[in-house]
Amino acid sequence: MTRESASACQPTISITEKQHRRQICRIGRWMYTRGYVVANEGNLSVRLDEDRILVTPSGTCKGRLKSDGLLVTDLRGEVVSGTGSPSSEMLMHLLYYRSRPDVRAICHAHPPTATGFAAARRALEEPVLPEVIVGLGKIPLAPYGTPGTWELCAGLEPLVQNHDAILLENHGVVTCGRDLLAAYQRMETVEQFAKVMLTAELLGGPHLLQRADVRKLVAARPVGGPSLPRESFELPLSAEATRDRPAMARPALEPVAK
Ligand SMILES: [Zn+2]
Repeated sequence: MTRESASACQPTISITEKQHRRQICRIGRWMYTRGYVVANEGNLSVRLDEDRILVTPSGTCKGRLKSDGLLVTDLRGEVVSGTGSPSSEMLMHLLYYRSRPDVRAICHAHPPTATGFAAARRALEEPVLPEVIVGLGKIPLAPYGTPGTWELCAGLEPLVQNHDAILLENHGVVTCGRDLLAAYQRMETVEQFAKVMLTAELLGGPHLLQRADVRKLVAARPVGGPSLPRESFELPLSAEATRDRPAMARPALEPVAK
């Protein structure tokens, strides 16, 4: 079954542009209140239809968005309605929308713990929590690129097809979904997982699930849950595979001896 036909089987409730605008403002407030962004960081967008994207403008605090202050752009990022410039990180949103017809919303933020992992060049790809394995699979790390440029997109491009959440090296996190709430909840999951992993590291390291356990979890994934069809879902590493990796990039938390 193709991704388009899979999504066509899902019941859809159409909501109006006005409702999308309100939802972007509400989720912007949630991101700001939870500390996933500060000052004017982060950006949100929703695909209104085949040709139009509703996006947050650059230079605005996501905790204080106004629904009539959002911009509508085309798929090249050119503003077709509203005043101001779209987010400087619009290119990242466009990459997802052009590559994945199933993606209807993007959430980008700098949640501190997950961004800490990205700054330490640590992907979140180990099999530790069942709900993360089932919902997101691996959370890979895209190589660093200057924010707001195609350089960033070049590192992301190989990953967007198979991942709904990606860490951006020395930068933050991007998540996508069939709607904005799904994209936001993935951001919450990534940050929560990063906190759990950090705590587990402090307590001696996480216990990794075995390959058989990971397979059982993935086989039980509910239809209609995560965006990705089973065939494009990238499994997290199993405990066995992690052990077998000769040079896993897993720096210790303790300071390096001089
Ligand atoms: Zn950013």
